[in-house]
Amino acid sequence: MRTLVPTSLLSPTLTKEGVGGRLAARHVNDRHEDSTARLTFPSHWNLPDVRGLLYARHWRVCAFCGCDLPRNDRGDVEHFRPKGKVEEDADHGGYWWLAYDLNNYLLSCSLCNRVRKRDRFPLRPGARVRTTYSQRRRLRTEGRLLLHPEWDPVEDWLRVRWEESLCLITPQQHLSPAARKRVQLVIDFFSLNHDVRLVRERNRLRDDVLDALDQERGEDAKYMALRFRPHSLVAKQILANRALQYLPTIEEELRWLLHVALKELLVAVELQDRSGLTDSPHERLTKELLWTLAALCLEPLTGNRADVESLLEDADMTEIVRPFIDAFARAYENP
Ligand SMILES: [Zn+2]
Repeated sequence: MRTLVPTSLLSPTLTKEGVGGRLAARHVNDRHEDSTARLTFPSHWNLPDVRGLLYARHWRVCAFCGCDLPRNDRGDVEHFRPKGKVEEDADHGGYWWLAYDLNNYLLSCSLCNRVRKRDRFPLRPGARVRTTYSQRRRLRTEGRLLLHPEWDPVEDWLRVRWEESLCLITPQQHLSPAARKRVQLVIDFFSLNHDVRLVRERNRLRDDVLDALDQERGEDAKYMALRFRPHSLVAKQILANRALQYLPTIEEELRWLLHVALKELLVAVELQDRSGLTDSPHERLTKELLWTLAALCLEPLTGNRADVESLLEDADMTEIVRPFIDAFARAYENP
């Protein structure tokens, strides 16, 4: 297979040499010279390597509401801490130094990002200190309200009431009163129990999982509980309660993601070859998926890179993914 992407393009965006990393350094410099300097934020976070990394973490599921990203919504790269301003605190000026920080990005549906989240970043009830650039080392202890899917044990804090008709989500009973209050505020913030579409999707999934179990199609139920599938928490909690043996393992989740990413990549490559156009949506998708595979290789969920490499080998994709793996490794493993 021919090399699709010139190696000159393989400099990850958010590293020191990347376009995002360089701009972040310039922002710091500008604000050192003038604490009120106006900063601009071009959307380098939409470049293929950043999106590819996020697909490796979330695939096509919104990090906030759990919906499947529809065909016409590639998902927004959402800044968890808003970069330019904070709606709750007009004097803060935003977490500008995190504008090009991968750890501040989540993949989100447009409704969650543009309607619900926007530039909001509320603090927990009682928390008063919002972190500024000079206190940035204390960011981890900031009393943020919103839950983060990778930093917080969200699945242990949310309870899907799948036995009840509406399949609503509530805070887990084992939480302290303060934690329950926080989780309820987050549930309300993202309208998890008020958005008719979300409630209907969870209802349908609950019915499908229960049907699959009733008809002894455990593997179908397992598929719905994979972490990269929409509203998988519903299926997971049903299986944890009714059929523990069908809870997917992390190896199964990784294998599924690799399979779908590879399949989609092969289609995108073929469509790209047919069109012969450069900078087409197919080429963009091809690059994103190659970065996804490279990210999975370097950060395999199972912790075992061989699991990913053997699958790439079987699909005859090692050669094409290799430059992307090497570029990520150079950038993130030995910065
Ligand atoms: Zn969403």
